[in-house]
Parts: sequence; C-alpha cells; structure tokens
Amino acid sequence: MRTCTICGNSEESERNRLQADEVNPEIFIHWKCQLTPEYQNWFKSKCKNDPLYNRYWDMMTMGKPTICKQCNEHQVISPKAVGMGAGSWELHCTKCHRLTPNSLNGYKDAATYQQLSQLREDFLRSHDLESITEVIASLADALETESSPQNCRCGGRFSIKAKPRCVKCDEILVDSYFHISFKPGVLVNA
Ligand SMILES: [Zn+2]
Ligand SMILES: [Zn+2]
Ligand SMILES: [Zn+2]
Repeated sequence: MRTCTICGNSEESERNRLQADEVNPEIFIHWKCQLTPEYQNWFKSKCKNDPLYNRYWDMMTMGKPTICKQCNEHQVISPKAVGMGAGSWELHCTKCHRLTPNSLNGYKDAATYQQLSQLREDFLRSHDLESITEVIASLADALETESSPQNCRCGGRFSIKAKPRCVKCDEILVDSYFHISFKPGVLVNA
C-alpha cells in the first residue's frame, strides 16, 4: 500500500493525491503534506543525507549562482527545457558561451526533444552517465548535418553536444549537456 512519508496515512482524495517523489518513485507524499514545515524538514535532511537526492535538486535549480573557476565571473546556470523554458531545447555554441536564437522546438522536433528530456532525467539521477556522452554525440551527428548549418558568429557551431561556457572568458562552466549558462538580464543570443 502507498503511504505518505510525511503523515503516515494512505487515504487520498481528489484534492489531495499521493504523489510519487521525483527522485525516488517509491516515496509518496500528499499534495497537502508538501506544503507543511514537516515536509521542509524532511526535504532538507534528505538532501543532506542522500547524495543522489542532493545532486538532482541542485542540478534542477533554476538560476543557480555559479562562479567561473578561470576568471571568477559571477553568472547563473539553469537546467534546459524545464519550468518556463519547457517546450524548447536551447543550444549552446561549441566554442563560446552564446546560445542559438533557434532552439530545438519541442513540437516540431518532438522525437528528439523527448529523447533529450529522457537523457536529462538519466543524467540528473546519475543513471548511465558513461553512455550519455555517446548517445548525445550520435544524436548530434544525425541532427546536425552539413546541410543544416547552425553557425555561431565566433566560428563555432550551435549543438546539443555543446556544454555551457563562462559568459566572460568562454571556459566550460559545468560538465553538462543539460544546462545553460547566462548572466541574468543580459542577452546571450548571437
Ligand atoms: Zn500525507
Ligand atoms: Zn560561438
Ligand atoms: Zn570565466
């Protein structure tokens, strides 16, 4: 039987469903219990004691402050295609920090978008980390043919296999195909 981790009850109603946890689908919590201080405490201690849980929520943070190791520039990173950005998959340049003005459209390129979203979920949960690089590379080869060049003015190429780079010095900021880097309030499109 499914039991709420917070209140210990199993009853559900139309307005108060038990929802599976995003990271561990064996954990269930009522919608209403997610609004309680008890939940806040549970969440904090879960993040502290469970590295996988912590990694997931850390990487899912929108606008997470990040400092470049090379030049100390302050900027932020966000996961691709979640929250306000859902529906389009942003592409960074392979050589600089710019983002393409033509991101991949979740409706037009539905199959690729789905596949990338699934890979992001695996990445955030540390599943199959080694194979992700290979899958991304072969997806990129299939998608980014010579006949559809998406070139950046720096000479690089907008690609799903480009990682987020520092907005100031263009050094790779995070080892992820699933995040974008930007400076809040500054346009980084080409
Ligand atoms: Zn509950
Ligand atoms: Zn570029
Ligand atoms: Zn930098």
